[in-house]
Amino acid sequence: MMNIPFSPPFIDEAVIDEVVQTLRSNWITTGPKVAALEQEIVKLTSSKAAVCVNSWTSGAILMLKWFGVKAGDEVIVPAYTYSATALSVLHCGATPVMVDINDDFCISADAVRKAITPKTKAIIAVDIAGWPCDYDKLNAIINDPEITGLFVAESFKQRILNRILLISDAAHSLGAKFNGLAAAKKSDVTIYSFHAVKNVTTAEGGCICLNLPDHFDTAAEYKYLRMYTLNGQTKDAFSKSLGGGWKYDILFQGLKINMPDICAAIGLAQIKKYETQLLPLRKQVALKYYDGFKDMDWFISPPLMDENRESSYHLFPLRIKNITEDQRDQIIEDITSDGVAVNVHFIPMPMLTYFKSLGYQIVDYPMAYQQYACEISLPIYPQLTGEEITFIINTVISAVKKQFANNLVPDTAIENMKPARISF
Ligand SMILES: *Cc1c(COP(=O)(O)O)cnc(C)c1O
Repeated sequence: MMNIPFSPPFIDEAVIDEVVQTLRSNWITTGPKVAALEQEIVKLTSSKAAVCVNSWTSGAILMLKWFGVKAGDEVIVPAYTYSATALSVLHCGATPVMVDINDDFCISADAVRKAITPKTKAIIAVDIAGWPCDYDKLNAIINDPEITGLFVAESFKQRILNRILLISDAAHSLGAKFNGLAAAKKSDVTIYSFHAVKNVTTAEGGCICLNLPDHFDTAAEYKYLRMYTLNGQTKDAFSKSLGGGWKYDILFQGLKINMPDICAAIGLAQIKKYETQLLPLRKQVALKYYDGFKDMDWFISPPLMDENRESSYHLFPLRIKNITEDQRDQIIEDITSDGVAVNVHFIPMPMLTYFKSLGYQIVDYPMAYQQYACEISLPIYPQLTGEEITFIINTVISAVKKQFANNLVPDTAIENMKPARISF
């Protein structure tokens, strides 16, 4: 029996030192630590700019509002994601148009194309588990003259872009690669989450990366967005604290969603060793899982790498061939009773009460349901020891074996699931 948590934060002495130094500096809200974290993110993702905020959710609301998304507009999202993806759209008064996914968990580009109407303002593609969506296909769609011809530009920013905005929900995918570059380079706007369970954390937090087309003035957009996170105020508290700077103005109805320095300090210490230490350690765990399961005939690997993409190894979403949702639930119970915390990513939104009340139905998203029903997310983080990984692999294998021994595979089970795209 072991006691293996699902996703504890990575807190080493460097993180503690950075936080303590912030406390001793007498400046704890948005200031130099946030600026330093933004610089590290720009460096890591080669983005044109990075704006830290207090969560992924508030960052998404901000960017939809920035683009002028409002009541009557539509934003296309996958049915298979964490609810924040769709809730951010609802917070702007717009309608999330849910579409189905592919067998790699990511939004189906074909379904996206079919869902586009003259009301479509944006697409939010979600890099589930850290696996980048097919951004080449999505970019081809939003730039296709047949699709740009449908676009109705209503706001100032919409007139500048003059097409659908591509937003990446990169809550999982800090460090993911597309054609050798950061996957963030593939979207107009990429939003990371620094929630406690993510690859890099600030306890709560998020970051918006801008890679808008060149006819946008990114430096000006950064200034405007920074102001937007601070009530539309011309001066932040830090500049006001410098003395002689008491005068300020409120230019528009902003939000109050800035990241405090005390939080940024945690992420700053982590991100400094992310590409050299933390991400390679996550990858090692994923590859050990892959090795441990690859000979099981029931194993469907999560997508980790292909010719042009590499995951950020945020989750290890294991899938089991030919099982029902109930059997999956029982396997989870057995794994949990052996002291291993696992999860399911995700319960498709159309299965949740609120979205059902809005009229979404899971029958409309068969692939989302299939993936959900046979999925179990295993613990994956740098601190996992080899012994723990072996224990998890053995625990999962025996729980699955027990299920198959106790149950004949029912006719309703998922059959002929295509093998995941994976190559080493
Ligand atoms: C965690 C998560 C979010 C929300 O992030 P917050 O920072 O908690 O707002 C959004 N989308 C996905 C896919 C997530 O996993």
